[in-house]
Amino acid sequence: MTSTIQHAQAAEIAVVAPLDKVLSYAIPAALAGVVHIGSRVRVPLGRRQVVGYVMGWIEPGDAKLKDILEVIDPHPLFHARHADFYLRAARYYVYPPGEAVRTALPAGLSALDSKPVVLRDKLYRPTTCEEQPQGARQREVLDFIRAANQVSLSQLRQQFATPHTVLQRLLELGLLHVEEIERCRDPFAEMAVAVHHPVDLNPAQQQAVTQIEGALESASFRPFLLHGVTGSGKTEVYLRAIARVLEQGRQALMLVPEIALTPQLVTRFRSWFQNHEVRLAVLHSGLSDGERYDAWRQVARGDVDVVIGARSAVFAPLPDLGLIVVDEEHDGSYKQSEGFRYNARDLALMRGQMDEAVVVLGSATPVLTTYQRALEGHLTYLQLPERTSERTMPQVHLVDLAQHEGESLLSEPLQTALSEALKAGEQTLLLLNRRGYAPFLLCHDCGASIRCPNCDITLTYSQVQRSLRCHYCDFHQSPPNNCERCSGVRLLPEGMGTERLEEEIRQTFPDARVERMDRDTTSRKGAHHRLIEQMMSGAIDVLIGTQMIAKGHDFPAVTLVGVLNADTALNLPDFRSAERVFSLLSQVAGRAGRGDRPGRVMIQTYAADNYALDYVARHDYQGFAELELSQRQALAYPPFGYLVHLVLSGNDERKVNNAAEQICANLEPGAVDVEILGPAPCLLPRLRNKHRVQILLKAKQRDPLRRKIEQLSRFRAKLPAGVVLTVDVDPVDMF
Ligand code: ADP
Ligand code: ZN
Repeated sequence: MTSTIQHAQAAEIAVVAPLDKVLSYAIPAALAGVVHIGSRVRVPLGRRQVVGYVMGWIEPGDAKLKDILEVIDPHPLFHARHADFYLRAARYYVYPPGEAVRTALPAGLSALDSKPVVLRDKLYRPTTCEEQPQGARQREVLDFIRAANQVSLSQLRQQFATPHTVLQRLLELGLLHVEEIERCRDPFAEMAVAVHHPVDLNPAQQQAVTQIEGALESASFRPFLLHGVTGSGKTEVYLRAIARVLEQGRQALMLVPEIALTPQLVTRFRSWFQNHEVRLAVLHSGLSDGERYDAWRQVARGDVDVVIGARSAVFAPLPDLGLIVVDEEHDGSYKQSEGFRYNARDLALMRGQMDEAVVVLGSATPVLTTYQRALEGHLTYLQLPERTSERTMPQVHLVDLAQHEGESLLSEPLQTALSEALKAGEQTLLLLNRRGYAPFLLCHDCGASIRCPNCDITLTYSQVQRSLRCHYCDFHQSPPNNCERCSGVRLLPEGMGTERLEEEIRQTFPDARVERMDRDTTSRKGAHHRLIEQMMSGAIDVLIGTQMIAKGHDFPAVTLVGVLNADTALNLPDFRSAERVFSLLSQVAGRAGRGDRPGRVMIQTYAADNYALDYVARHDYQGFAELELSQRQALAYPPFGYLVHLVLSGNDERKVNNAAEQICANLEPGAVDVEILGPAPCLLPRLRNKHRVQILLKAKQRDPLRRKIEQLSRFRAKLPAGVVLTVDVDPVDMF
């Protein structure tokens, strides 16, 4: 391993602790040669012992260093180039390097005693002896192994009931070889593999592929924005680009928003790559610790050609990365919202630069920041302006709810459209971005609503679960019979959620087969996947859901998409609210008419004259972007400015406020190019029983802002006990 330097006497270690720097430790003689960059080690820290990761070598100098106590894993977990990437990412997001590496690595590798179990398996091969054994069972098993040439014990167990004695006998007869191997867990093994139908690229696809291939030849950092309308065949472009990078003997990384929500894409990839004998690893949050560890080691060893994964896969230790694809780059799930608040899309660009790789960001609705970067020429703009196979974009109608007051949750036009779709045997998607039965219970005597005792928010009512639940802290209780304030009995559900919509659709259309897809119905493993298969097989007529149903699905029989409440998100006090609404509605609209029949979309709203909705209806991304960008420019919001969001939180309101005042006072001097807004209460001023105060730093240039936030770790060290400072660089949600 080249990362070993035999003569190094000291190493830089990122310890798992809230420290803003790497620490230096001596390599004792006993460990000479076994400490590598990427090794997980045990080191002393104060009076404790903690896990650390070796990030680099240093000259020991005169200072007396403490010794590394132990090297925990037999092999390093990453290479030197990954160490550099992790450190740079940690610095960018102002996050302790050791904690950042811990987040990057598979879960379960930060505790001192955690060594994920390595599963053992046996591999059987036929010998050159060609005799046939006596028993029918033995012959059957042997023929199977001979046909396959090599078969693992776990595969044999799936094929034959009890192969053990049979195998024993075949070994004794000298008809088989056996070898111990490490078994890798493949969580997708049972998933159906779709047949991949090869397609001829259309001219726009071909042009995109040609450009990306040209960049791959240069083997240097070249970023692209692949802007293709919904159903324009972006996946096909990714596949060709990946195939080319594999031909070059390098590797590819494909990021997708949430694997559980995009099984169709994974299935398409698997089938495509299986035909090409590509070694694929799928990393996602549904994996057990052991599964992740297995996959990670394979990737680090260079035994994997393509990694598909959600946000954290951006850290996967592919040794020779040539291409990173970020599919649906607009998706909010690329941003980690707690702890190490990185954005995998932005880190993909950082990593591409460090690894000299090509990066392709793909979307039908790129975030405006990405789009603006492409306009400025920092990314090469590739466009797929039309759907494949002469399919047209769906017709979008806005339904002004003000003119349909008093009708049920479904306005009359949407109801008519739905019954027409049902009659024609076509499928419908209904988007209501709120789960539960109703967002709250309201007392119709005194006007009180039932709120979370820990957070400043109403509890969501679920009829199915007979519960009131806080979607932030998960506090839950059963619905009371009486109002706590006035003891009134008229506590009624107010507003609408997906459960209520489901109930109404079932009542109005008793013969329709209705299902619901939201976090409540898909929490069980495989549930989401089952719903998708039912949609594909036509076993569902109407699928109701939250934004989950807008994500990348390709259901050819869907001709109608209905949006129940376009407004709620428009009213959020956030400069991105119009962009979010535009993106979500364009994405969900894009689910209609992907098959042979044209699609239509009905959007119910009280804000029918809102410009964002108007652009959605006209499928006019560019028009929307131009208008929105000019407004952003006027206010110096991203992409024309940079933001860092600070939140101070703690149980003691006064301490939190004081700390916030102090930080502001400390940041102020010399802040000529940086605006400091606040302190002010957060949008959610109390969450999980913590008081929360925010400060927003805003600047037109990145550099002065970076100089300011470099001081933050100093303040962090001086905060009073019980007050926590979180730093969110390039924030997405500012709650
Ligand atoms: P997007 O990701 O851009 O929304 P997809 O990649 O899912 O679109 O492609 C939409 C559909 O079009 C898929 O069913 C895909 O197999 C098909 N498709 C892609 N490229 C072509 C092509 N060149 N000719 C015909 N069909 C295509
Ligand atoms: Zn709560």
